[in-house]
This record gives sequence, structure tokens and C-alpha cells, in this order.
Amino acid sequence: MTELTDHHGNPDGSGMDWPVLQAGHVWLVGAGPGDPGLLTLHALHALGQADVIVYDALVDRRILAFAREGCEIEYAGKRGGKPSVSQRDISLRLIELARAGKRVLRLKGGDPFVFGRGGEEALALVGAGVPIRIVPGISAGIGGLAYAGIPVTHRDVNQAVTFITGHDQSGMTPSRIDWRAVARGSPVLVIYMAIRHLSTITGELIAAGRDPREPVAIVSDASLPTQAVHETDLGRAAEDVERFAIEAPAIICVGPVVLMRQALDWLGQLHGERPRSLDPLGSRQWPDAG
Ligand code: SAH
Repeated sequence: MTELTDHHGNPDGSGMDWPVLQAGHVWLVGAGPGDPGLLTLHALHALGQADVIVYDALVDRRILAFAREGCEIEYAGKRGGKPSVSQRDISLRLIELARAGKRVLRLKGGDPFVFGRGGEEALALVGAGVPIRIVPGISAGIGGLAYAGIPVTHRDVNQAVTFITGHDQSGMTPSRIDWRAVARGSPVLVIYMAIRHLSTITGELIAAGRDPREPVAIVSDASLPTQAVHETDLGRAAEDVERFAIEAPAIICVGPVVLMRQALDWLGQLHGERPRSLDPLGSRQWPDAG
């Protein structure tokens, strides 16, 4: 049996061997979409070991409460209208902390490698000779939608799903997205950071042949007590964001799986709502059905 040298005995009586966050190492850890219950066990153990936690805007404060006593907590995002700390500065700060012999936890919303610049930070750290560990997290585009009662895949309607970012480095709609290919190739689209440029995005999709009547869900604050889900269609989504003043963070899902929510809004049902339909997809033949 291979022994991982950085593992130690079980502090929690589970019989599990948890990895040790060592001095001078940086762990890039996913915090999930918000609900602290969606942390992984590795994330929880990391929080209990770190000397310093450098966290992002989208990390829920209740998660920081799992840090050990005396842990320094640093914020690395935008706040109160101040410009965000640059990506380069964050990477340099992580390297500096590691070189000072700290046990460093870089805590990022969702999954660190999904539209979170985790790859850039990891590259900078490895380039500087700092040992890293990646702790994946539940991404908002999967777990956040599950909290809205939307399965990102459902056998009857989609065998593919595409994750898209609505921003590029410059904050604009990403110019390298081939909207035509995306519109044709993927019955379900999950769009991160889409609020600001939604009219451009929906316009591109409709121009590329998507039906303006296609169901869309806009899920804001997914998995948090403030979660709100707005159901609309592709043709009206951008207008609705304006009209109902829907704000980031929000995840947008386009495609027939959105209809599943009529049956599977489990959170609403826990609060006494009844399913609107038990056959939300009906007998209609979906183009992608296998
Ligand atoms: N690494 C993250 C994504 C970072 S990009 C992940 O894997 O989830 C930031 C975007 O993620 C936000 O603009 C929003 O589109 C989405 N997002 C993150 N948390 C969210 C939440 N709780 N509810 C809705 N969208 C969320």
C-alpha cells in the first residue's frame, strides 16, 4: 500500500487519515456555493489547520467560523466599491505567506478550478516552488442549480451540458465563445457571471438559432438563506433582470431541464409548496433525447 507522507492519524475518530497542511504549503480549497453544509471534509479539516486564510467575496462568512482559534483571516476581493486586489497581487501574497512558513488556505467560492482563477494562482505557486494541494468544491453551476431543483442533466432531454462564463478578463462578454457551436451543440447551458451582459448573451444565442421561448432559470444566492429563483424564457430573461433588479451572484440555466423544477423544487416543498407538475417534461419529444 502506498503511504502518502503528508497524512497523519485521525483527529476525529473516523479512522480516516487526513492530510496535514504543512508550514510553507498552500491549499487551494473550494468552499462550495454558500451553504456551509456543502463544504467537503477536506475543506473542513483544512480550516481547522490553517494559520492564514485568504478568502474571496463569494465565501459565506459562516464558513470562516470553522477556522481554528488564532487563525489570521485575510480578504482578497472587492468590497465597498474599492477596486479588487489584482490577481497578481493575490498570487504574490500567497507566495509571501508560504515563504514566511505559514500554513496557508486559499478559500474560493464553489470549485477553485471553475471560473475562479484557481489555475492561475496554482501556476504562480508551483512556479515559485511552493507546494500546493487542490481541494475541489461543489460548483455553483451544479450544486447551486440542485438547490433550485434543477438537475443539470436529465436523460430524456440532454446528454451534454456546457458551462460558460459571461465575463472575460476585461469584464466584457467573452469574444472567444463560438455562440453558434454552443447554441447547436449543447441543449443545456449553465452561465456564470452572466447578469451584466445578459442581453448580449441571450441575443447571441437567439441569433444562433435558440428558441426565445426556451425555459431559463436565474438562481441568485444559490444555497443561501436568501436564495431566489426566477423562471423566465430566453427572450425575456435580460429584461427581467432589469425589471426585477436581479443581482449577482446568480447562475443562469438555459434549457429544458429548467422545467424539472416544477416537480423538483424540494426547498419550496419543504416550506409547504406543492409540486406544480409531476410530469414537467410531458410527452414532447426533445431533440437531444437518446
Ligand atoms: N468557482 C466558482 C465560480 C466563480 S465565478 C464556482 O465553482 O461556483 C463567480 C460566479 O459564480 C458568480 O458570478 C455566479 O455566477 C456564480 N456563483 C457563485 N456562487 C453563487 C451562488 N451562491 N449563487 C449563484 N451564483 C453563484
